[in-house]
Amino acid sequence: MTEDNQTGRYGTYGGQFIPETLMSEIERITAAYNHYKADPEFLKEFHDLLNNYANRPSLLYFAEQMTADLGGAQIYFKREDLNHTGAHKINNVIGQALLAKRMGKTRLIAETGAGQHGVATATIAALFNMDCEVFMGKEDTDRQRLNVYRMELLGAKVHAVTTGTQVLKDAVTATMQEWTRRVDDTFYVMGSAVGPYPFPQMVHDFQSVISKEAKQQLLQETGKLPDAVVACVGGGSNAIGSFADFIDDPSVKLYGVEAAGDGVDTDRTAATIERGSDGIFHGMKSIFLQDKHGQIDKVYSISAGLDYPGIGPEHAALAKSGRAEYVGITDAESVDAFEYIAKTEGIIAAVESCHAVAYVEKLAPTMRKDQIIICTISGRGDKDVASIAKYRGVDINE
Ligand SMILES: *Cc1c(COP(=O)(O)O)cnc(C)c1O
Repeated sequence: MTEDNQTGRYGTYGGQFIPETLMSEIERITAAYNHYKADPEFLKEFHDLLNNYANRPSLLYFAEQMTADLGGAQIYFKREDLNHTGAHKINNVIGQALLAKRMGKTRLIAETGAGQHGVATATIAALFNMDCEVFMGKEDTDRQRLNVYRMELLGAKVHAVTTGTQVLKDAVTATMQEWTRRVDDTFYVMGSAVGPYPFPQMVHDFQSVISKEAKQQLLQETGKLPDAVVACVGGGSNAIGSFADFIDDPSVKLYGVEAAGDGVDTDRTAATIERGSDGIFHGMKSIFLQDKHGQIDKVYSISAGLDYPGIGPEHAALAKSGRAEYVGITDAESVDAFEYIAKTEGIIAAVESCHAVAYVEKLAPTMRKDQIIICTISGRGDKDVASIAKYRGVDINE
């Protein structure tokens, strides 16, 4: 493990870069989390909700057609797309909202980019009968009207953030400000493995159910560990959950797949590890895409869910130590993979997840037939069908 509990650091990354007024709240959250993560009642309620509300355990599915077609390693998909609300995000939100409830909070706030984390948070707020307010860049509320309406249906209030460039990074800033303004009854539900410590660790722990299940499922079916685990990386929550239980198994290679957009060498990219540099934003030290003045750059990818200008601190440390490798996949490659997995396996996967699938298409043929890859399908792709059609020049909106 790269994490150092004493300081909340992952190597040189992580930490707690927050306004003074939030420090005592962060200390309360740390103490509460350290208590409840070892509390059998808390863990029982968490796993009951995962199993009986979110539809876990998710399948580990042998992709026989793709394996045969690519002619190399055996490919297994960890099917987070089959969870309630259609992605891995619900695992983390259930955990954080339960902690919030235990701490006596009655109000959840969250930032959201494309709206997927906002929808997951609004879902659990409805289930727990808590108030929910979601901050979303004005530009994103215009682009993602369906998700805004979904959140409203679930009873949440959506704030369109009109400061800065009116996208995710501005929503992050607005949510941090709201949290500073009102901590007593409010819990900030972090959307990925990012933010000030202990959030990256909480998200790691709640999402580690992905790799714990996958390891057990694969051992049961084949008696073996995988040779490689592949997952897409935005802030890094599905990837850290997919890696977590394999980090201490040195024979398992770990690949995080970033969105390269038009290409890592262009200005329209979200490939943080390849193009970014060390900086401080969102309460943590990590790697960010930023200009020479340290201002956070605008990022671009066809997949709204990978459109985060940084990466979680544990990934930054895993990249630096070489334990995990990070690669970029372009829009064009992920759209090809979107169509490929649909046609070969009958699965319409999220365009985010298809970045991982595209990398598997490159990796599998370089491996032996007795080797095994687990690829996490982080979400379902129904939400992406219209934009993929548009990418192909087909207008399906009447
Ligand atoms: C949000 C999202 C991602 C990216 O977030 P991570 O924290 O990096 O996992 C990936 N896939 C899907 C389907 C998402 O909704």
